[in-house]
Amino acid sequence: MQDAELLTGFDIQVLGSAAKMPTIRSSCPCIGVRVGARQMLFDCGEGTQRQFIHSILIPSKVQGIFITHMHGDHVFGLPGMLLSFLSLLNTTTNNAPPPSSPSSSSHAQWADIPKSRTLRVYGPVGLYNYVCMTLNLCEAKVGVNLSDGRPVIVVHELVGGEQFGGGGGGNGRDRRAAFVKRDPDFAMPGVVSRAIRPDADGFWTIPPFDDEVGGSSTVTPHSRKQNFVVRAGQVKHTVPTFGYIVQEDDKPGKVDVAQVRALGLSPGPAYKDLTEGRDVVLPDGKGVIRAREVVGPRRRGRKLAVLGDTCDPFSMSSLVRDADVLFHEATLENEMQGMAIARGHSTPSMAAMFAKHVRARRLVLTHFSNRYTSSSGEGREEGGIEGGIGGGGGGGGATYGPGKEQQFQARPRGAVARLLQQAVEALGDERRVLVAEDFLKIHVPPEGFHMLPLPAAAAAATAASTATNATESTAAAAAAGGGGEGFGVVVAGGDGAGSRVRRKEDIEQMREEEACPS
Ligand SMILES: [Zn+2]
Ligand SMILES: [Zn+2]
Repeated sequence: MQDAELLTGFDIQVLGSAAKMPTIRSSCPCIGVRVGARQMLFDCGEGTQRQFIHSILIPSKVQGIFITHMHGDHVFGLPGMLLSFLSLLNTTTNNAPPPSSPSSSSHAQWADIPKSRTLRVYGPVGLYNYVCMTLNLCEAKVGVNLSDGRPVIVVHELVGGEQFGGGGGGNGRDRRAAFVKRDPDFAMPGVVSRAIRPDADGFWTIPPFDDEVGGSSTVTPHSRKQNFVVRAGQVKHTVPTFGYIVQEDDKPGKVDVAQVRALGLSPGPAYKDLTEGRDVVLPDGKGVIRAREVVGPRRRGRKLAVLGDTCDPFSMSSLVRDADVLFHEATLENEMQGMAIARGHSTPSMAAMFAKHVRARRLVLTHFSNRYTSSSGEGREEGGIEGGIGGGGGGGGATYGPGKEQQFQARPRGAVARLLQQAVEALGDERRVLVAEDFLKIHVPPEGFHMLPLPAAAAAATAASTATNATESTAAAAAAGGGGEGFGVVVAGGDGAGSRVRRKEDIEQMREEEACPS
């Protein structure tokens, strides 16, 4: 079932790549991530449960579900997902035998969730009420953990910050007060809320899963310590929206085994001392090996960025910088930029400009309007990447990662290919752009993806555009080696009725089109 031979300790799988509504081949937004023993979901669109069954993810290892924003296409799968976890929490016993062998049946997939388990959900203000009210109105039975009385669901709302876009979405009313109000009639003993406030740098840090009250029992005391951090920042959309990064800790340098052997020390526990910077006395006591002389430089941790729907993520630039993989929406094509911005969305070239600005090593376009993925045979539906590239389980999707990059040359045709081409042209490097497909697996190699050197023509174009660009952020972009800058986009706060943009042509176009969040 699993592509075990390919897992790199930092593995990503697209579970949904469609905007607004599912199509024949694409489900609503969800991205699954495995970092070591811990797994996470980013967004939980309708249909995520079924996608999950076919994925490389394992329910018992899911530590947190991160919601970018409250638009329905990103959260309508959440209540069902929570109930599936809960139904097994309430019905399994401590003595229930674990599944004896991997199985493709959905029951076996779900059956190994330990009884004492807390599910953590993270997202904007309003998420607690959404979870509580949905479960209440559906008469779901949500108790506390039978074994220790802990709540089974902890909803973390990211509070503070600018909260771009207000709380009313497209209905023209500011309903933020209702989003934070707690109705005691909808309280549930098994569901509690916590607030996470931004740090001094304006970004939110998610507490390590293991440290938190209600920490998971699925990671045993012998499991490795959590070796990554999740942080969040806000991006501009028509409602408050977050982007998340998963940042792996930097890793110690590698021991030069040949050199250490030559000095008289065979591989063994002392090597760990060396990697941790401690000098080691030789077994014969006649010398000391200096760690700094035999251990290479610390190795950069890998980084993933998953942005929610956005027409301007530049406020997250410093957090996203140098990401190995950047998921950026490209809802509409370049020719529809005015409409995209009015709806709080991006085009491929907008995504590419941001990727260039933050020096993302790989850009993955996602969240495609169904005009590109319709069920009529248009776009990806006729020419999408067929499953099986890279083989293995996890939905049989395409694979991108060590040794598989070349095989990923099977580019989609049709309408989505146009989006890909537009991003490639803007970024100037086709090797760095991927199109999200449901079940696409991205295995980030242990050393991270390399920043590919720009082809000569693209490098020249980048230099030229940087030189002629006179916007205020050009200097910063140039200093960072990128050529991009902000789009001059201001999404209206509070009224949610639309977006204000500074570009004249966008304003012209907006007059003719109504904002319509998705
Ligand atoms: Zn949205
Ligand atoms: Zn959306």
